[in-house]
Amino acid sequence: MRSILLLSFSILLTYSSSIFAQQYDPLHPPNSYQSSQNPNYWKNKMPFPGYWQQDVHYTIDAIIDEQTDIVTAKENLVYSNNSPDTLKFVYFHLYQNAFQPESYSDDLQKTNGYPARYGRYESQKLGTVIDKINVDGQEVKIQLDNTILKVWLPKPLLPNENIVFDINFKTYFDMGGNVRRRMKVFPAYGFKHFDGVHWYPRICVYDRKFGWETDQHLGKEFYGDYGTYDVSLNFSDNYVVEATGFLQNKDEVLPKELREKLDIKNFANKPWEEKPSVITPYDPKKRKTWKYHAENVHDFAWTADPTYRIGETYWNGIQMVSLVQEPHASRWQNAADYTAKVIETYSKDFGMYVYNKMVVADARDGMEYPMLTLDGGGDPSYRGLLAHEVGHNWFFGMVGNNETYRAALDEGFTQFLTAWSQEKIDGLYPVRGLVKQNYS
Ligand SMILES: [Zn+2]
Repeated sequence: MRSILLLSFSILLTYSSSIFAQQYDPLHPPNSYQSSQNPNYWKNKMPFPGYWQQDVHYTIDAIIDEQTDIVTAKENLVYSNNSPDTLKFVYFHLYQNAFQPESYSDDLQKTNGYPARYGRYESQKLGTVIDKINVDGQEVKIQLDNTILKVWLPKPLLPNENIVFDINFKTYFDMGGNVRRRMKVFPAYGFKHFDGVHWYPRICVYDRKFGWETDQHLGKEFYGDYGTYDVSLNFSDNYVVEATGFLQNKDEVLPKELREKLDIKNFANKPWEEKPSVITPYDPKKRKTWKYHAENVHDFAWTADPTYRIGETYWNGIQMVSLVQEPHASRWQNAADYTAKVIETYSKDFGMYVYNKMVVADARDGMEYPMLTLDGGGDPSYRGLLAHEVGHNWFFGMVGNNETYRAALDEGFTQFLTAWSQEKIDGLYPVRGLVKQNYS
């Protein structure tokens, strides 16, 4: 009786776990990107027979040291070769190596007559440093050419096979003079603000048109394989964090009581640029790990600042989050609501936004990442910027063409979207006051 019971129980378990494995759930692990139920997976919507693209599943555990400005991380990448070709080597982007003496970017700057000044880590050629790399558990031969790392595989990777990379790396935050860089640290009212972008070794795209894309990050454009990211980010306890993907441990890192204290509405009347209050006192020994899961994306970025305050609203089940430095909170009160209007406009007029979240952040920038945009300014002047960076999530984010080959496709389409949403939301003539006439 017992053995029969056990047997039927184990059959039930096997049966239900196989169903579970096929269940598409982009909000939680396990990775279901390749599920036959995923409406966004390329195999489920082939544009023509024989089409292919490569798949990725990154798992990254990172510690961000707010005293040294160094990210120390372990990265596990499962790479699926869906191409008809056998691969003997692959390439990775180490984007942060562009910002150092004798890099290709440095040569370009000098040639253009704008020699760069480098920060403390940059001048020591510390961008992203690989401490260890294994492929399927074996040590491998590598060759570094500035921002491009070539990795020879221990055995050829056949079509329809997977391979696993294990990489230990460090990435150095820095802020050299006159070099435009997106990954940055800057002072934030006695604390440090971090924008963690292009921060991890990212496998180059192998595609049908060109084979390997090995751009040296001169045009500052991007191209990436789609898949899944499981990323944990360990910070000092006082940081408020947002990132690509769905937060897995909200109750732990952002409990209700803390979330209420951080709400943007509490700071609606805060004078512009007045020193922020301290909500979680800084204690270098107290740490917190933020865990995110994202599917159908080709990149993962994050932003972190102890002075961030949070606005939140929903449209059609999509969470809109605004993050603003407390001294700017008075002019960001409508940021989440405005973002909802922008998402609604693009979704209705051009195609539904496929992700569960969009973040707009006060981060001294104007740049797009999947589900996350880094912005700046305040209402009403930031409306065009928010509409633009959010708009990138349609072409850059969901279409994901090779920007290093055709940058204007993404930028042009996004400018069109920006003008479209501005007109729809704020009307044809949002400019108030007299415009100086320069031409008659
Ligand atoms: Zn743009």
